[in-house]
Amino acid sequence: MSKRSSQHFPVELSIVIPLLNEAESLPELTRWINRVLTQHGLTYEIILVDDGSTDNSWDVIEELAQTDTHLRGIRFNRNYGKSAALNTAFEAATGRVVCTMDADLQDSPEELPELYRMIVEDRYDLVSGWKKKRYDPLSKTIPTKLFNGVTRWISGINLHDFNCGLKSYDQRVVKGIEVYGEMHRYIPVIAKWNGFGRIGEKAVQHQERKYGVTKFGLERFVYGFLDLLSITFVSRFRRRPMHFFGTMGTLSFLLGMLITLWLVGEKIYLAMQNLRARDVTAQPLFFLALVAVVVGVQLFLAGFLAEMTQLNGPRRNQYLIRDKLNIS
Ligand code: UDP
Ligand code: MG
Repeated sequence: MSKRSSQHFPVELSIVIPLLNEAESLPELTRWINRVLTQHGLTYEIILVDDGSTDNSWDVIEELAQTDTHLRGIRFNRNYGKSAALNTAFEAATGRVVCTMDADLQDSPEELPELYRMIVEDRYDLVSGWKKKRYDPLSKTIPTKLFNGVTRWISGINLHDFNCGLKSYDQRVVKGIEVYGEMHRYIPVIAKWNGFGRIGEKAVQHQERKYGVTKFGLERFVYGFLDLLSITFVSRFRRRPMHFFGTMGTLSFLLGMLITLWLVGEKIYLAMQNLRARDVTAQPLFFLALVAVVVGVQLFLAGFLAEMTQLNGPRRNQYLIRDKLNIS
């Protein structure tokens, strides 16, 4: 513990902002952040990630950077999505604490000092904002409630608002996890499954979008749900795929064998009684048995293949280590 707090960081706080076509918001946003953080006397950097904007966002960033030494920028060659932007900025961040926020002025920079304090003093691994009073259309707030309920239930994490753009992290967290696909909605889930279990929540101010339009449509809920399923599955079985596929395969195979035994046994029994039995292959159950056996074998094969790709994969023995004692 003591070693960690004496570790040297170039700045106290990194603010990470993914953006797609938000040129109008940027000057106001950076001015506001600068004002709040200067008042609080924190050292900081602002990392703006231009996720393939087609407006003049990057020009605006370059121009702002001429007078603002806190600004750092990364520009993607095309639009890769918010998760990709966050992951790339996390790699570049140098702060003791890393805060993320949206670029569209819906999240208030006034929240940053407290989010910072909760990581450093209250020792949370991650603090998630909670848009207690939202300024979004109903078409978004109602499905969001459902989304949060399901995520709470599946992940066992008690947050009201998983997908809030405003979050803060201990640097160990952002360097230790990987965000990909559309997984930015589930960063607290990913963090928890990597052992960063101290997750806090802070009610935050939320504003209506001032400029531009939302970059996510209704498909966010469909993809969001599928992502939750894959992340639950992957985090449980990534390192031991055979446990999943093997179990399912065995069950299916056994079911098929049992049905087969039943069919054959019935046939023999009836024959012994000198009764005429239907052909085994003329019965619907026979086809069920056939399918169950074949599916069982296939699941087994899938399990073996998954185990083998693991064996050759680069990450097979990568674990996050929290502390070391007398180990260099
Ligand atoms: N964003 C991004 N890449 C994308 C989509 C969105 O970097 O492909 C950024 C966007 O510019 C904003 C943040 O992610 O800074 C949140 O997006 P938005 O405000 O459109 O989402 P909403 O508030 O409607 O959930
Ligand atoms: Mg927004």
